[in-house]
Amino acid sequence: MTSPILSITNAVKRYGAVNALDDVSLDVAEGEFLTLLGPSGSGKTTLLSAIAGFIQLDNGQLRLRDEDITSEPPERRGFGMVFQGYALFPTMTVRENVAFPLKVRKRPAAEIAERVQDALDLVQMGAFADRLPTQLSGGQQQRIALARAMSFQPQVLLLDEPLSALDKKLRADLQWELKALHDQLGVTFIYVTHDQDEALSMSDRIVILKDGAIQQQGAPDTLYNRPHNSFVADFLGKSNFIEAQIEARDGQVLRCSAAGAGFEVETDTDHAKGAAVRIALRPERLRLAAPGEEILPATVKQVSYLGERCQVIVTHPGLGELLVSRPTWKTDITPAPGLAVSIGWDRDAGVVLAPDAT
Ligand code: ADP
Ligand code: MG
Repeated sequence: MTSPILSITNAVKRYGAVNALDDVSLDVAEGEFLTLLGPSGSGKTTLLSAIAGFIQLDNGQLRLRDEDITSEPPERRGFGMVFQGYALFPTMTVRENVAFPLKVRKRPAAEIAERVQDALDLVQMGAFADRLPTQLSGGQQQRIALARAMSFQPQVLLLDEPLSALDKKLRADLQWELKALHDQLGVTFIYVTHDQDEALSMSDRIVILKDGAIQQQGAPDTLYNRPHNSFVADFLGKSNFIEAQIEARDGQVLRCSAAGAGFEVETDTDHAKGAAVRIALRPERLRLAAPGEEILPATVKQVSYLGERCQVIVTHPGLGELLVSRPTWKTDITPAPGLAVSIGWDRDAGVVLAPDAT
């Protein structure tokens, strides 16, 4: 990363016995769409609030470019903010709401008028300037909250689950709009969500949090295809887990065995022969074939049709249940409960996981 716009170093925040932030270090690149993703209670809002300056860290440091802002109050940090439930001022019109951050900064009236118009045009709400928030739909209110956060042209925008109150269709529309806006403005976005699909579809980089600690960070496809541990594999999509033993190693290829079956996986980390490892396999990487054709014998237990894909649960005597996801256009086999099949996968489909942090 060329020199980061924002650096968080060893951030710690405790609430009684809870480590809301447990030694978090993170660099944010200029212009990046960075997403903090994790389940409820993982520390996402705490981290964003600490960046914003709404809470003070117990330990650690924040740097904005080359300036230490750890002890600066929120208004000196200059971030744009859209927080969950961070409502519009109800008695102010849309125009007054969007003008507010500029008025606080004592900008001249002509500049305020121009920037308010620009910000409203950006979110396609130019025609709504004289309405009150109560005269707008939820999606429109959220657009105005965004316009308000951007009106003073901050370099970094902090967004805490801004779309979570909206219904699914509207949320999907606004995801596209937000992403387009980000790409158009070149502003750095730090975006919080607990929604995996939202994170995967919008982000340049995702940081996965659990119990106040970073589990893994990387581009969406890296996290999805090369999860570091079971938590990431399970949280970001669906995964099968196989407990296996390493029989041999040949360069990047490990020869493994599990419940009497032998198979290979690729890895770039070191593993000793004889070691027990946990391997993740995405359901869509598993093949379903006639008995004897693939690695594992199995029996179909349940089939569910999902339109473009079909999910099949199969059972293996030693490994238990495995989930297979296959396109519905595949008609080589018609899976039905009780059918004997076999399951296979390519050796680059299996991911050797690190033990979960406790
Ligand atoms: P997230 O946004 O990922 O859902 P939070 O950052 O809100 O998680 O919370 C992280 C942890 O810190 C949770 O266990 C939460 O209960 C706790 N926590 C957050 N804020 C406070 C507070 N003001 N007082 C006590 N505990 C808090
Ligand atoms: Mg939160």
